[in-house]
Amino acid sequence: MTGTHTDVVVVGARAAGAATALLLARAGLSVIVIDRDRPGTDTLSTHALMRGAVVQLHRWGLLDEVVRAGTPAIRETAFHYATESIWVPIKPGSGVDALYAPRRTVLDPILVAAAEDAGAVVRYGETLIGLRSQDGRVVGVEVRDRSGRVGAVTARLVIGADGRRSTMARLVEAPTTHRATSTTACAYGYFRDLPCRGYEWAYRTSGMAGLIPTNDEATCVFVARRPDRLRRGGRPALEEALADASPELADRLRPAVLVSPVRTFVGQPGHLRTPWGPGWALVGHAGSWKDPISAHGLTDALRDAELLACAAVRVLAGEASEADAFGCYQATRDRLTLPILAGSDEVAAMRWDDDRIRLLLRGLNQAMNEELRAIDELDSPVQSGQPR
Ligand SMILES: Cc1cc2nc3c(=O)[nH]c(=O)nc-3n(C[C@H](O)[C@H](O)[C@H](O)COP(=O)(O)OP(=O)(O)OC[C@H]3O[C@@H](n4cnc5c(N)ncnc54)[C@H](O)[C@@H]3O)c2cc1C
Repeated sequence: MTGTHTDVVVVGARAAGAATALLLARAGLSVIVIDRDRPGTDTLSTHALMRGAVVQLHRWGLLDEVVRAGTPAIRETAFHYATESIWVPIKPGSGVDALYAPRRTVLDPILVAAAEDAGAVVRYGETLIGLRSQDGRVVGVEVRDRSGRVGAVTARLVIGADGRRSTMARLVEAPTTHRATSTTACAYGYFRDLPCRGYEWAYRTSGMAGLIPTNDEATCVFVARRPDRLRRGGRPALEEALADASPELADRLRPAVLVSPVRTFVGQPGHLRTPWGPGWALVGHAGSWKDPISAHGLTDALRDAELLACAAVRVLAGEASEADAFGCYQATRDRLTLPILAGSDEVAAMRWDDDRIRLLLRGLNQAMNEELRAIDELDSPVQSGQPR
């Protein structure tokens, strides 16, 4: 590997990294993305998108591709409580009339291909192993490829989009600014022949669960429990946990055909990290993680990709200082995400009753409406696809 120079190097080529690279490349910046993984692979994640993410995919011109990949439109959401079920229609708004839950093997490659179309160079099989610094500024990355060769990319800005266990956050020693206290453990698998009209979420203190219709006529079925109560063990363990969350969903699951392994996530409490410093920034899980029961990580990732890209374009054009532009990115991210972090933390604690969980979900809905307003109002120079 030889050394290279670019405007921006992004570490991580999934939701957050590919979306940020796409927007920066569309703004006319040179962008190199590295990822240690292989293209098109799956990752540990369910993938229900909330409206903010669907609105962004639409205005970036990518929603049609998600639909063409056979991702079913979600037009209703059910909330199953201990005493009743409530169905809520998805009202048309902000240019979209449905929600979608594309598999990560669909969503991530669409974002990567769009980034490449816009001129970003995406290099798989390269792992971030160190940073180049000068006078207290990050000025590049050191990477190792699969054959063990080490190289460097120098850049005006280095962005870490390398997930929950971010190497980049560790290398820059990004301070943790907020910590959640609770976590669920969850398990999920994909089933065919499972009748399901839309997203379905079930809430009991004995267990929570969800049905997420997705590609290939499959439905992702997930369960979430306190970590000490989630047993590993494939379909029987998943069915047992689902019966605790919703006997009705468990009955419906019985004749369905499991078409994937059952994957388990052991849980990790949410946190927020300071997402920028001299010459570097963090986006997606690298800077912000919340319990998966929020079903909001991908929506966060796309929202923050656009907030960060807008800030980075201004900084690299010399129109704003890092302190102003990235400080504003951090403030907006925190304002939008903290209510969702706090609400999901209380949901994950599973110490509510039927009245309290409804109140919590109403609060989360309000926070998501606020987020949607912010996304609608973003006067983004990077979303149109026109180079500046
Ligand atoms: C069990 C579970 C369920 C979830 N359910 C939902 C849901 O229903 N809805 C939702 O919106 N979100 C959900 N999420 C969250 C969602 O998965 C994340 O929001 C999303 O993955 C964040 O994307 P990202 O791009 O920040 O990070 P990631 O998807 O983690 O991508 C990080 C990338 O960085 C690369 N990388 C890491 N380290 C290095 C390195 N040193 N060098 C080079 N490359 C590196 C990795 O290979 C990877 O490709 C769930 C998460 C989990 C764990």
